[in-house]
Amino acid sequence: MDDWLERIATLNVWSRGGQRAPHKPLLILLALAAWQRTGSSELDFSRTEPELASLLRSFGPPAKQVAPQYPFVHLQSDGFWTLNTDIRVSESFTLTRLRNGVCGRFTPDFERALDVDPRLAADVAHLVMAAHFPDSLHRDLCDAIGLDVDRLDVEVARDRAARLVRRRDPRFRAEVLRAYSQKCAMCGFGGLLGGQAIGVEAAHIRWHAADGPDEVANGLALCTVHHKLFDRGVLGAADDGEILVSADFAAMSEADDLYVTRLIGRGLASPQSAAQAPEAAHLTWHRQQVFAGAPRSTD
Ligand SMILES: [Zn+2]
Repeated sequence: MDDWLERIATLNVWSRGGQRAPHKPLLILLALAAWQRTGSSELDFSRTEPELASLLRSFGPPAKQVAPQYPFVHLQSDGFWTLNTDIRVSESFTLTRLRNGVCGRFTPDFERALDVDPRLAADVAHLVMAAHFPDSLHRDLCDAIGLDVDRLDVEVARDRAARLVRRRDPRFRAEVLRAYSQKCAMCGFGGLLGGQAIGVEAAHIRWHAADGPDEVANGLALCTVHHKLFDRGVLGAADDGEILVSADFAAMSEADDLYVTRLIGRGLASPQSAAQAPEAAHLTWHRQQVFAGAPRSTD
């Protein structure tokens, strides 16, 4: 079992200039969801293509074009994925060929391992999510993919995943919250319950899963709503701390306007000491890899 996890943990993820590439992780989660639903991980490319494209647009870095065909073929090189045709990883291929009845699935030995040990699916799902996405998105990912995490053995899997990916510094949360006086750096929310901050979290600017350091200068104290919107790319910040709102965000109600649109042009709250302020390099990473599209203008 650890052998399979090892392979998943050392997934050969395509990357150019540090660009986030969640293509293979998303395909693995889709195949796991199919396995969980039907007992078979088989995915027909023509049916999977729009689904994977939409996941890449929602959870991938901002991109003009998404290319779901590459992970479908290239995942073969990682040793647990196979196609019902002989398109090799090194070969060039057309979309038409893939759309013409090509199916992919986990290799028979990997599927057998999933059948034999029900915990393995949970371990794989959590490992893939922990290695490529921040915690705040795991539930959203499972919902979007149709992976029923409640049927997976969550606690055990989280522990194992934590051992296989880089450990977090347990002091990060407390240090970030202290630097921002337990208040959201965007809206100032900072209620307490029994003297403890509630609904305020320590967000990584450059994701921990993308080698972001556990340092206050890579952190922001954000309320739960603004943390989620920041990790999904609705919100970002310029190097000087000006809050940016994605033009892709549609405000549907007065509350959306209050929580989001009105932040345009405001600045992030300053931490207690200037040395703790967000580092420009981390904010740049977030704008390039997470922030969705263009910022909305103030008028
Ligand atoms: Zn907030």
